[in-house]
Amino acid sequence: MYDYVIGGAGLAGLTLAWKMVESGILSGKTLLIIEPDNKSKNDRTWSFWNENEPWLTQLPTLKKWNEAEIWGHNYHKIYTLNPFSYYKIEGKEFYEFAKLQIQSCPNITWLKDSVIGEDANSQQVFTPTHSFRFKEYFFKNYFNSSLLPSLNGKGKHFIWQHFLGWTIRTKTEQFKPDVITYMDMRVPAIEKGLSFAYILPTSETEALVEYTLFSADLWEKNAYQKALVNYIEQILGISEYKILDEEFNKIPMTNAVFAKREKNIIPIGTLAGTVKPSTGYSFIRNFRHVQKIIRSLLSGSDDFSIDASLRFKFYDEVLINVLKTGKADGQQVFQLMYEQNDLRLLFRFLNEETSLLQDLKIMNSVPKMPFVKAVWEELL
Ligand SMILES: Cc1cc2nc3c(=O)[nH]c(=O)nc-3n(C[C@H](O)[C@H](O)[C@H](O)COP(=O)(O)OP(=O)(O)OC[C@H]3O[C@@H](n4cnc5c(N)ncnc54)[C@H](O)[C@@H]3O)c2cc1C
Repeated sequence: MYDYVIGGAGLAGLTLAWKMVESGILSGKTLLIIEPDNKSKNDRTWSFWNENEPWLTQLPTLKKWNEAEIWGHNYHKIYTLNPFSYYKIEGKEFYEFAKLQIQSCPNITWLKDSVIGEDANSQQVFTPTHSFRFKEYFFKNYFNSSLLPSLNGKGKHFIWQHFLGWTIRTKTEQFKPDVITYMDMRVPAIEKGLSFAYILPTSETEALVEYTLFSADLWEKNAYQKALVNYIEQILGISEYKILDEEFNKIPMTNAVFAKREKNIIPIGTLAGTVKPSTGYSFIRNFRHVQKIIRSLLSGSDDFSIDASLRFKFYDEVLINVLKTGKADGQQVFQLMYEQNDLRLLFRFLNEETSLLQDLKIMNSVPKMPFVKAVWEELL
């Protein structure tokens, strides 16, 4: 019998375990972590903006930029991000860091296995060969793709953020190491969705260059390759480069709830809705959710819900509707939004921190009719 079980040591499970150790919650208590993977591969790069909160200094080899560029078909903007910075952390670095924190606590058992089921009434978690009882909570972190079909329906929308990124080394100096390209919308537009590229440089000759789509349908891999090569060679004008690393993956973007709490089984991470439906970002939202879980565990509160604003939930729902149905050209919407609004205001908007007045200013910059139609559909 364990006090707590975490099923899945991904971003959410590892952040939670790290913060449980740090907060002292585990003194005199036990935690079982069940994870099938070694968490030793660099399977993703996390990037995000933040106002330089002190906890970020705990993270290893965090790359930080203070300037960002945006490219539209007919404009180019450059921003000093202050008070924000844009960060990048490699998955492998984060996994190693979190595993070190976990190893420092003798009350944690790490089991390399998969959870195949759980029972909220008897407070049990099952692996193919064992069952484990939990006294307090089971935090469920893994996302099962069989849930995806249920994410479309009345008032629920689901699209993919899908991408191919290469870390490239160029022969000549091509990048500004202190400036990211946050969004480059000079790539060809797609029907029913959005396409853009972004660049996270680490030196004059090295950068992660990623081609990204928001749409309902996934592509064949060679189509992403063609689009990325086109971006690097035709738009950036880089002819000589070597591919050092590849990121090819997808993130579900949905306003639907993947899983609800069932008694003492608490969803965390993507399953709980930490991925922002309209952006696919989740690093900071996941951290906020973990902070809340820790506060609740420390105070004996039983509230583990994600703090979410209904207003921003509705905006996300409407935007995904517009993109998924092709009511408006996604690139036109984003080009106008980023042309007519300060990037820092948009960061605050995406952080769900803006006032209604500021939201109206942002909404005023995009084509009205498609959004009015989508609002109408969502309200019906
Ligand atoms: C390639 C990629 C890049 C991303 N980049 C960004 C970014 O730049 N910024 C950002 O904010 N967000 C980004 N995201 C979105 C999001 O932050 C990540 O997907 C994040 O890892 C989600 O965290 P999670 O804990 O929900 O899931 P995961 O980190 O995927 O963790 C789930 C864990 O559950 C384990 N598991 C699976 N099945 C079982 C089972 N049956 N039993 C037990 N364990 C199981 C898995 O092995 C895994 O370790 C990215 C996502 C991807 C895929």
